[in-house]
Amino acid sequence: MKDLSKKLFVISGSSGVGKGTVIKSLISKHSDIKLSISCTTRMPRPKEINGVNYFFTTREEFEKSVSNDEFLEWAEFSGNCYGTKKSFVINTLKNSHVLLEIDTQGALQIKNKMPGAILIFIAPPSYEELVSRLRGRHTESEDAINKRLNFVNIEKENSKLFDYIIVNDTVENAVEQIEKIING
Ligand code: 5GP
Repeated sequence: MKDLSKKLFVISGSSGVGKGTVIKSLISKHSDIKLSISCTTRMPRPKEINGVNYFFTTREEFEKSVSNDEFLEWAEFSGNCYGTKKSFVINTLKNSHVLLEIDTQGALQIKNKMPGAILIFIAPPSYEELVSRLRGRHTESEDAINKRLNFVNIEKENSKLFDYIIVNDTVENAVEQIEKIING
């Protein structure tokens, strides 16, 4: 019989907010939560591995998947496309909780399609802090960074529709807050 207790968690947060570190820590502590690997048309950053961080695809391949209705959600973010494969989420939810790390546009699409999904937004302790974290990344051009900063306000606005907003003051604190949400 299908186990209906498995939940879909969606975590969003502005670029540079440190959500990657929070999620890594969370996943390492909870083997019953599976992280979905998204498809993207963006180029891999140094040290990113295909099939580990993302499935890196061409825009043509991505568009083919869109027209074949393979994505549960997808969005264009900062000039690149990102999408979550429907098959992975549906199959994995049979046995495990699933966690999506996606942008707020995608998160709201998920909420529409799967109202039981739990949306968590990770906010920075301050905007200044966020800008300095983003600038400290040194992996992107000034133009790319500015584009991402423009999204910060949109994401902040979208986050009002989320179930939970947590502040990433320290990784330990953020993980603890998410664990409380997961344990219901
Ligand atoms: P990055 O290029 O920094 O890895 O990710 C840029 C943004 O795309 C982040 O906000 C990240 O959460 C989001 N993202 C990653 N995968 C997906 C996805 O499958 N769908 C959507 N909608 N956003 C995604």
